[in-house]
Amino acid sequence: MSPNHPAHPSRFAIAIDGPAASGKSTLAREIAKRLGLVMINSGAMYRAVTWKVLQQNIDPADTAAVIALLDRIHIHCGETGMTSTCTIDGADPGDELRSEVVNANVSAISAIPEVRDLLVKLQRNYLDHTSIIMEGRDIGSVVFPETPFKIYIDAHEDVRASRRSDAGEVDSIAARDAADSERVTAPLIVAEGAVVLDTSHHTIESAVDAAIEILKQQGLPVQETPSIVP
Ligand code: C5P
Repeated sequence: MSPNHPAHPSRFAIAIDGPAASGKSTLAREIAKRLGLVMINSGAMYRAVTWKVLQQNIDPADTAAVIALLDRIHIHCGETGMTSTCTIDGADPGDELRSEVVNANVSAISAIPEVRDLLVKLQRNYLDHTSIIMEGRDIGSVVFPETPFKIYIDAHEDVRASRRSDAGEVDSIAARDAADSERVTAPLIVAEGAVVLDTSHHTIESAVDAAIEILKQQGLPVQETPSIVP
């Protein structure tokens, strides 16, 4: 079993990484339901900090001002039911996390090492409470590098772009992917030990089946929660 949590050897983290709109969140949510885990959306944490920076009229390019803001705010990350929640100074940004302006600035904010240090600590804290599946860009490489359960989700760029526009979002995913992959601290990479799963030609159900098969091969003792028949 995973060596992730010294005090709770049976507790584990599943790391799901990949580029924007690759299907990570949907897949992680469905796997969480099937395996009875809590799903943590780490991108929402970077988005919440970005939202706060913009709300305070701080220029996202002013790294010193962003770092100074980190000392003044209180970020609370928790969970409701089976998904993560994030408030800043008691406020829940809700749908604004996925606004065009947050999409356009989140990669700049998440490239700041001090922002990452703060959020990586909060991400690791989740494992103190329960087994989790966490999705993001550096979960298998930086947040939980020791976990044996790692999947890198990918999809063709045109498939990913149409997923975003179908969801009614304005999001330059190519620009975000370039920034996320080229940054110095914790760039998006295929983590050591991760298996790549391309979801371009999968349905959600077949992608979940494929992901669970990969996790079984990585040694996860899978016990699926029975679906509730209405
Ligand atoms: O996953 P999502 O697209 O919501 O992530 C938004 C942004 O947050 C990413 O483009 C990336 O800049 C940042 N991010 C990150 N590391 C993570 C998760 C997200 O840098 N683990």
